[in-house]
Amino acid sequence: MISVNKCLFCGEIVKEREVFCSKCRELIPPLAKTCCKICGHEHCRCSLSPHREYELDGICACYFYEGEVRRVVSRFKFSGGRFLGQGMGKLMAQRVQEVFPDISFDGICYVPTSLQHLVQRGYNQAAVLARAISRFTSVTVYDKILRKRVGVKTQHTLHASERIKNVKDAYRITDPKRVYGKTLLLVDDVSTTGATLRECAGELKGAGAASVYAVCFSLTPNRLERKDGKFGDVKF
Ligand SMILES: [Zn+2]
Ligand SMILES: [Zn+2]
Repeated sequence: MISVNKCLFCGEIVKEREVFCSKCRELIPPLAKTCCKICGHEHCRCSLSPHREYELDGICACYFYEGEVRRVVSRFKFSGGRFLGQGMGKLMAQRVQEVFPDISFDGICYVPTSLQHLVQRGYNQAAVLARAISRFTSVTVYDKILRKRVGVKTQHTLHASERIKNVKDAYRITDPKRVYGKTLLLVDDVSTTGATLRECAGELKGAGAASVYAVCFSLTPNRLERKDGKFGDVKF
């Protein structure tokens, strides 16, 4: 069993059950409790034109994808930092309980990765997070319920408009009966435009899932949220 008694961000020894040290807790603030439940952002226009996404019934994230958070995600994905998924998953589980306290989930799904990435990395980071969330919530993981079709490009290499086109029909359900009528939690590490999550959720809804909520560890800040004042690639 992997212990989580090192600070997720700086590696400092912390008390058992703690995910980070007091310094990092102060320096790296999580997203506000009052984030929009439709898009997951702190600043958005969802309330100006009240709507409900067809694919996603709600979304929440722990942090903005910037600074230390970006570095942790990168270590987790590219530098053998698989163990970091424990602490990240714990924070995600807490976030889901905080934002959607009344939702009772039947199962947890995760965004699939390509076979090529799986071979290179040895694991699917979203699956690692899903299993960690399951450990803290006791909700079952529906393993490999979504598959990525062959020939789909990696999202972060593309611009926003290309991303939406790229993920269209990029995923398929392996066992539709399993998700029929179910309330699901969809997991990923980072969401940039939400296109991947919406596409996966659309597949799950198409197979008869009753509702699909998403949680990701981090979310790319939109232009109102970016601290450096530069515009992100997220269009409002
Ligand atoms: Zn720390
Ligand atoms: Zn919103």
